[in-house]
Amino acid sequence: MNRVGLTFNSNHHLHDSLMNGYPCPENPLRIKNIMEYLKNSGLIDDENCRFYDALPASVNDILRVHTQEYVELIRTCTKDPRQSPGNDVYVCPSSFDVVLEALGCVLKAGDLVVSGECRHAFAIVRPPGHHAGPDSCSGFCIFNNSGILARYLREVKGLERIAIINIDAHASDGTYDAFEADTNVLCVSMHQDQKTLYPFKGFIRDIGVRPALGYCINMEMPTESGNPEYSLFYDEVVEKVLDKFNPQIVILECGFDAYYKEPLAKLNLTVDGYYRIIFKLASKWDVVTLLEGGYHEDLGLLASVVLRALAGFENVKDDVDQIDLLASRHVKTRKEFNNNLSLLKSRLEPYWGPWNRS
Ligand SMILES: [Zn+2]
Repeated sequence: MNRVGLTFNSNHHLHDSLMNGYPCPENPLRIKNIMEYLKNSGLIDDENCRFYDALPASVNDILRVHTQEYVELIRTCTKDPRQSPGNDVYVCPSSFDVVLEALGCVLKAGDLVVSGECRHAFAIVRPPGHHAGPDSCSGFCIFNNSGILARYLREVKGLERIAIINIDAHASDGTYDAFEADTNVLCVSMHQDQKTLYPFKGFIRDIGVRPALGYCINMEMPTESGNPEYSLFYDEVVEKVLDKFNPQIVILECGFDAYYKEPLAKLNLTVDGYYRIIFKLASKWDVVTLLEGGYHEDLGLLASVVLRALAGFENVKDDVDQIDLLASRHVKTRKEFNNNLSLLKSRLEPYWGPWNRS
């Protein structure tokens, strides 16, 4: 079995929109529920899956991705709760301390894997990060957790090939903005069709800019896509591109909002769908998993599924097989998916083709 290192930012509850007087789906209950579930799951032990402490990151770590001006904007906003630094982003007086601790957990997760202490890691942190670009933020994200980790691994640990894979329902637009011209970092985002979901970015045609054309991949998953579509995309594109890129580490932007119970999106992954993707990744590559979105009642269950997949344990039984069947029978969804897949493959042919099955 693989040893899996876990980190979480214990001060996350100090980042809470209720302090500003209004509720938000991105709230402390998310991690509270995950931690309670994992505590009772029987998965945490010294042998296979254990928690590690982490020191807070520094502002210099944030500056690996974000501009000084943007960092100052966030600081300023924390002093005045009436100010928001971006669309659907709140900050409160302790938010800066919370994000530094969250980033410390993210960097520690990377350290655990690079040092060989753990085969894989899972940083259970909030706020999420993948919508935050170098000088902007949106969608509950303040700083780009995965991007800062990738730059840290590149600049401090000397890694040359890092892959960032987004399975959150929303496009990983902040990560794209940070790495669109970077040939050391491959970014793959599979997300709900950007015509139907925030942030309305992440088109198939967006493949990065010179000199990194082809190093950003955006797959538009039609609404109602589920386990069969995700599996097909993984097998036919993700696996082949990863094999050619040969990353030294994979950072997984793991949002739980592609789940069939998610109120903010319309995708149909089940526990089995999540398990299959993460198990396949972890069987071949060293994976640092970062919590991104997910706003329903099963976050704890899905976090346990992540641990099972990373550790190499069997999955819990999926009691919603019918969702799989429904999704695969959804003719319109499958037709759109096949069209998108063909379009994506032809767009990426010069960089990662030929796509013939081996
Ligand atoms: Zn999301």
